[in-house]
Amino acid sequence: MKKSLPDLEIPEELMNRIIEHAHQEYPLESCGILAGRDGKITSFYPMVNAEKSSSCYLMEPEEQLRVFLGIERKGLELSAIYHSHPHTAAFPSQRDVDQAFYPDSLILIISLMEKKAPQIGAFQIEEGRIEKKTVKVVEKD
Ligand SMILES: [Zn+2]
Repeated sequence: MKKSLPDLEIPEELMNRIIEHAHQEYPLESCGILAGRDGKITSFYPMVNAEKSSSCYLMEPEEQLRVFLGIERKGLELSAIYHSHPHTAAFPSQRDVDQAFYPDSLILIISLMEKKAPQIGAFQIEEGRIEKKTVKVVEKD
């Protein structure tokens, strides 16, 4: 990797909303954007999956642009792009690797393979290489 991105730190309340979004969209993939600073997430933007698919996702370009501008206006960073895997493990698919268009942000995957025990994985993907990152869920202070 050219540079290693920071691990993620996500407030418990936001993590619950990310998982809830995955359940709401099930059996389709959910997707969205997480913003913050240095991997510490402060903002959560659930997005529409324009593909309406259970094996891939596509964000609407206009909605995505609106979110990117909002993040910039708040002086935050695009920390991670998340999506769910309704039926597969919390590991990037070949398509996720091929379509990792934002190498400065992590890919967060929520697996609902075991619906009652969602698995979370965060990855830095750069030029086809995958590096696993840790996700720390923190209680709000
Ligand atoms: Zn995926």
